[in-house]
Amino acid sequence: MTTPAPRACDALVITCMDWRLHPHLSTLLSGHLPGRFDLISVCGATRSLLDPSEASAAQFLLTCVGTSRRLHSVSRVVIVHHTDCGASGGAEAFDNEAMERARHSDDMKAAAELIARSNPMDYY
Ligand SMILES: [Zn+2]
Repeated sequence: MTTPAPRACDALVITCMDWRLHPHLSTLLSGHLPGRFDLISVCGATRSLLDPSEASAAQFLLTCVGTSRRLHSVSRVVIVHHTDCGASGGAEAFDNEAMERARHSDDMKAAAELIARSNPMDYY
């Protein structure tokens, strides 16, 4: 059995910076991801990866993912989007909550694929 590197952590979490998400994120992370993890908290989480007008933000995000992997041996990424996200136009941009949730689900899958292409790991 090998001992993990001192700086190694269990995962990288990419989440929206929205303050309303913080209490839920704490519950999610303590229940499903106990231990050490890196955290990237930016507006819209991975939304920039899917918006050509946000190329510089997307590159920043991918650079952070690569740095987490290099410095902390991260092998798993957790992407957290949320409803009523201003970066996605808020709840008013959708006809109903089911459509909004489906959009976020699709966006998280697409973002995971883009991140995987630049940084092969597991994505949740
Ligand atoms: Zn948000």
